[in-house]
Amino acid sequence: MTLLQLFKNISIYVRPYRWLIILALILTFIGALTAQVNAYVLQYTVNSIASLVEQHKPLSEGLNIVAIITIILLSKEIINILISFGQKFFGEKIRIMISKDLAQKVIEKVLSYRMAFFTADESGSGKLQTRIDQGVSSLTRTVQSFFIDIFPLFTSAIVAMLGMFNANYRVGLVALCIVPIYFFISQRQAKKLKGARRNIRSYRENKSGGIINILESISVIKSFNREDIEAKKQLELQTALTDTQMRTRSTNFKFDALKTFTEQIGVVIIIILTAYLVLSGQMQIGAIMLHIMLFNNVTAPIRQLHRIYDEVNDALIYAEGFFDIMNSDHQTEQSGNYRPEKIEGKFELRDVNFSYPNGTKALFNANMTILPNKITALVGLSGAGKSTVINLLDKFYEPTEGEILLDGVPLRDYDTKYLRENIGLVLQKNHIFSGTIAENIFYGKPDASYEDMVEAAKQAFIHEQVINLPDGYESSALLLSGGQQQRIAIARLFLKKPPIIFLDEPTASLDAIATEQIKNSLDAIKKDRTVIIISHSISQFIDSEMIYVLKQGRVLEHGTHEDVYKQNGAYREIFDAAARSLNVERISGTMVNK
Ligand code: ADP
Repeated sequence: MTLLQLFKNISIYVRPYRWLIILALILTFIGALTAQVNAYVLQYTVNSIASLVEQHKPLSEGLNIVAIITIILLSKEIINILISFGQKFFGEKIRIMISKDLAQKVIEKVLSYRMAFFTADESGSGKLQTRIDQGVSSLTRTVQSFFIDIFPLFTSAIVAMLGMFNANYRVGLVALCIVPIYFFISQRQAKKLKGARRNIRSYRENKSGGIINILESISVIKSFNREDIEAKKQLELQTALTDTQMRTRSTNFKFDALKTFTEQIGVVIIIILTAYLVLSGQMQIGAIMLHIMLFNNVTAPIRQLHRIYDEVNDALIYAEGFFDIMNSDHQTEQSGNYRPEKIEGKFELRDVNFSYPNGTKALFNANMTILPNKITALVGLSGAGKSTVINLLDKFYEPTEGEILLDGVPLRDYDTKYLRENIGLVLQKNHIFSGTIAENIFYGKPDASYEDMVEAAKQAFIHEQVINLPDGYESSALLLSGGQQQRIAIARLFLKKPPIIFLDEPTASLDAIATEQIKNSLDAIKKDRTVIIISHSISQFIDSEMIYVLKQGRVLEHGTHEDVYKQNGAYREIFDAAARSLNVERISGTMVNK
């Protein structure tokens, strides 16, 4: 990304604050003028006092001058305090506001994207978070250094340079010749340090990531006696970090020395030149002071140049990844606008083929009819494509080929939000948000009454356990066990009461008693609903009215348990293996003899 593109991209976010920016720029300009006052006051003082001394005037006349410069300098300082406060405050306000807008906008954008965006390799949650964080912070840092550092300093430098030319163009020319040398050294410094700050930051992140890793896996580390290896890994990171830090420091010290030296040469040349001009009567003595002080103002911003250069470089790199996320409009979820009054819940898959965005083919010519008021089970080994079917029915992805109908209307024509309001999804993995238990259940239907929420918890068999907690429904949901969290997720479903329910191994992390209780509740809720269940447990699928058997993305068999079992195919294989692993004979023996 070039600087121009960066400005173009960021200008939309800067525009709402243009008045603030204009104000900051006006203050900057006034600040640049006041920054030169000292130089002129010094010139005036030296000239006036020199002429008093020459004319052997009494001390009382000198007091006049002292009074004038005291008033000027104090007034200037008061104005300066106000200006610099305003400048910093407005600069900071611009930064904070833009940072807020960027952070909020990117979240809203990301939330609007389709599922494929999130499962793509380059947007693994960690990577996405890093890209967003780095983008927001480096962009806001650029905005800040632009308004607080670069602009004021450079305006002051230009004003000072104009002042020098105005006082004497030859001295101005000398200063103008020194500036490029100074620029050149700063640029070399920036080149040498290129990426060093970024490297240091990434080492630091790795180090803190490493510590988190150690804390998370402490029991494994200890049980395998791997403390030494972990310590060594950290030492390597630490060494890399300190090496880079030392190298950066030494480069900085060298270049800073070189810059000071160049600046001093400039000062010396200006002293010689102005002294000559004074002695030859072309200038008054005070002009020496004036030029040296103005020259100081000219070089001040260039001293910071390498840092600004590095920051802008950083921003260019991070901004690219960041604006890629911001501007991926083609990733926005598609929605039709069909919103029927009621959804019956009959799904038909017609010759559906589907590949994930990374190219994995997950479904081949799948044909299915899923009827309302029935429980349909999807059975198959891991990776067979069962969850993929649910992903397609929930419109998380669109089929690559073929068509999916819901109540006879193509799924793609449905208003996506409306469709999902009518679907309840419970996955194997717990999806609990940080917050209270009540908040987590209310997530299913934010406008439900408290009584309905408690009723849902009762149906999910979690109520008894919740009321025994010290804070009851106000306890943190993250403190619950895996099985309990799963029941919170199921309670959410009972609260939502959608006409369509997808259950992807909902009881996999539950104990036997809970599994039985939940099964009963689910059996109760299935009435007047379309229920699809994915499960490896016989108890879950044996009773379902329709079973679809999938293998490597193909639908091989379908029918009731008896139907598909008789086909002596994949289902029978899975069922027999599951039954054997249960040791049915022993179980039935125990049950009979009890
Ligand atoms: P099941 O639910 O039957 O265990 P899935 O439907 O999850 O199987 O997966 C079917 C195939 O699709 C597998 O080969 C799996 O690796 C692949 N797959 C699943 N999700 C994704 C994804 N987000 N991106 C790419 N491939 C995926």
